[in-house]
Amino acid sequence: MLQQTQVPRVIPKFQVFLDRFPSASVCASALVADVVRAWAGLGYNRRAVNLHRTAVAVVDRHGDQLPDDLDALMGLPGIGPYTARAILTFAFGHDVGIVESNTSRVLARIAGRALPQPEAQRFADELVPEGHGWAWNQAMIDLGATVCLRREPKCGECPVVEHCSWHDSPDPAAPAHKQSTFAGSDRQGRGRLVDAMRVAPIPVDGIPAAAGWPDDPSRAHRVVDTLLADGLAVELDGTLRLP
Ligand code: SF4
Repeated sequence: MLQQTQVPRVIPKFQVFLDRFPSASVCASALVADVVRAWAGLGYNRRAVNLHRTAVAVVDRHGDQLPDDLDALMGLPGIGPYTARAILTFAFGHDVGIVESNTSRVLARIAGRALPQPEAQRFADELVPEGHGWAWNQAMIDLGATVCLRREPKCGECPVVEHCSWHDSPDPAAPAHKQSTFAGSDRQGRGRLVDAMRVAPIPVDGIPAAAGWPDDPSRAHRVVDTLLADGLAVELDGTLRLP
């Protein structure tokens, strides 16, 4: 839920979701449509489909428990290097570094240059003090979120200023992370279609209007193809609906 969605939006949804799906096996036995409905308001609905697929895989392969192994975690649908390491450190206390938008900015500035992902991951892993992975990663994320800000880092109050190569540089080496614009994007159309399907199946001829593009049916149907490919929708009886 926290991949690209802010904490205040996630917390109330998280509690409700856990009440509804308290274990992988409960989630796995639900319809995908139920999980997508419970995901309403969080955006990036494909994560709900992947969460359901992961719940099925956790039941099938790991006895209803998330594994505490990097490769096993990364073998689960929708779980990449960041989420796998976040689970390892925050759920199991392993000493692995996590690289996400905040920590990658801090790491790049400390190094004094933009770091390709594998190098950033190696650097993040090396920095973790033995036995303190959980607290270290919390601190790194908070440092990026509250001190090493993207536009105006507060270097004067930064606890790692003595180790940072960038703080006095006039020319930032680290690229700023830029989020793509949501309004008018295909992602916005996808979101509208999923929101409509949460309420009721959409008749095929109502798809362009439901996507918000009544005058551009080809765009709407192109976006529908991505929903079908992602397992977020199925076509049935002349309608588009949740699986
Ligand atoms: S010294 Fe400044 S640029 Fe370096 S990590 Fe701290 S806040 Fe970021």
